Amino acid sequence: TLSDRLADTFKNLRTKGKLSAADVDGTVREIRRALLDADVALDVVKDFTGRVRERALGDEVSKALNPAQQVVQIVNDELVTILGGQQRRLEFAKKPPTVIMLAGLQGAGKTTLAGKLAKWLKKDGHTPLLVASDLQRPNAVNQLQVVGEQAGVPVYAPEPGNGVGDPVKVARDGVRFAEQKLYDTVIVDTAGRLGVDAELMKQASNIRKAVDPDEVLFVIDAMIGQDAVATAKAFLDGVDFTGVVLSKLDGDARGGAALSIASVTGRPIMFASTGEGLDDFEPFHPDRMASRILDLGDILTLIEQAQQNFDEEEARKVAEKFATDSFTLDDFLKQMQQLRGMGSIKKMMGMLPGMGQMKEQLQNFDEREIVRTEAIIQSMTTAERTNPKILNGSRRLRIAKGSGMTVTEVNALVNRFEQAAKMMKTVAKGGVPNIPGMGPV
Ligand code: GDP
Ligand code: MG
Repeated sequence: TLSDRLADTFKNLRTKGKLSAADVDGTVREIRRALLDADVALDVVKDFTGRVRERALGDEVSKALNPAQQVVQIVNDELVTILGGQQRRLEFAKKPPTVIMLAGLQGAGKTTLAGKLAKWLKKDGHTPLLVASDLQRPNAVNQLQVVGEQAGVPVYAPEPGNGVGDPVKVARDGVRFAEQKLYDTVIVDTAGRLGVDAELMKQASNIRKAVDPDEVLFVIDAMIGQDAVATAKAFLDGVDFTGVVLSKLDGDARGGAALSIASVTGRPIMFASTGEGLDDFEPFHPDRMASRILDLGDILTLIEQAQQNFDEEEARKVAEKFATDSFTLDDFLKQMQQLRGMGSIKKMMGMLPGMGQMKEQLQNFDEREIVRTEAIIQSMTTAERTNPKILNGSRRLRIAKGSGMTVTEVNALVNRFEQAAKMMKTVAKGGVPNIPGMGPV
C-alpha cells in the first residue's frame, strides 16, 4: 500500500543524520514512485514532489537539527496541502433551510450518504428533510425511504401523478415543502449514471439551478482509481460542486483518488464514507488523512470514538455517582481499566505534534499503576470496596499481605481514591470530564 511504501522510504531516511542532495533526490524519487503506484494523478505527483524537493534542499532542512525528520515533516505538510489544507465544514444558510445537493455517478454512494448525512445532522440538533430526486431507477425512491427510516428522518418523494418523472420539479417542491414545514436542512438525492453522460449532467445542473443549493457535494467512490480524476473534472464542468465526499474508503482503496481530487478540482474533501452502515461516516480532516497515509495511524479519530463511546452512558452514571457520593473503589478500578486500552495510543501520541492536554495526561499515566491498583482492590472485600471509610489499620494490613503490596502502597491508593472522589464530585457539578479516570490519575 501507499502507506507501506512511504514508511519504507522514511525508514531509510530516518537512519541518516545529514542529508546530501543525492539523498533528497533518492527519497523524492521513491515518494514519486509510491504515489504513482497508488494512482495519484501525474500532475499532482509532479507538483507535490517538486515542492518537497525544493523545500528539502533548502535552508529549513540543512539547518535543522534532524534533517531526515524535517523532510518527513515537509512531506506531511505538503500532503496536508494537496488534501485541501484546513478541514472545511458545511456552510449553513443564514436563512434556513440549508440546501445540500448530492451529485455523482451511479453506485458512488449518494443515497447511502444522504442517510448518513441526515442522521449526523439530526444528532447535531438539526431538522433535516431528504428529497428523492432520483427518478431514474425504479427502486431509487424506495431506497431513500428505507435509508430515511433508518436515520429517523422524513423523506419528501413525488406523489403518483404529481410530478412523477420530473426530478427538477421534485427537488423544487421538496425545498418549498421544507420551507413550509420548517425543516432547517434539505438533502437532495439525485440520479447518477454508470459513466459520465451529457443528459445526466444536464439534469443535475438543472436541479442545481432550480434549488440554488448552499452546498453541492460530489460523491466519489474512492475505489475507482485513476478514473476518479476524469470523473471529478467532468462533474466540475457539468454541474460544479462545493465539496467532495470520498466514499468506500473502507475498501481496498489505494488512496490515490483521495490525494488527487482536492488538488485537481480545487474543492475540499469534506466527508469520508467508510462502510455501508449509516454511522460509517466522518468529517474529513486533511491532516489526519496525511498522518494515516504516512502511517502514523488515525489516532485522533480513534480517541474521538473512544470518547464518544464513553460519553454516551458511562459519563452520566459516573457523574451521578460522584454527585451522590456513591463512587466506589470498584468504579475507580473500572475507570483505570478503561484507560488501559489507550496504552498503545499513548505511544503513538508522542509522534504527533500539538496534542496538548490530552497528550500530557496520557503521558503522565503509568500503566503499571493499573496493575498495582487492580491487585490491591481485588484483595478487598465487597464491603470495603463500596465503603472505603471502614478501611482501618488491620484491614489495610490484611489487604497489603493479600495483594503483595506494602501498607504504604495501600494507604497511598486509598488517599488517591479519596482525593479523586472529592475532586470529581466538584467536577461533576460543573460538567463531566471527557476521559474516564483522568482526574484520579
Ligand atoms: P448511489 O447510486 O450513488 O446512490 O449509491 P448507493 O448509495 O446506492 O450505494 C451503492 C452501493 O455502495 C450500495 O450497495 C451501498 O451499500 C454501497 N456503499 C455506499 N457507501 C459505501 C461505503 O462507504 N463503503 C462501502 N463498503 N459500501 C458503500
Ligand atoms: Mg442513489
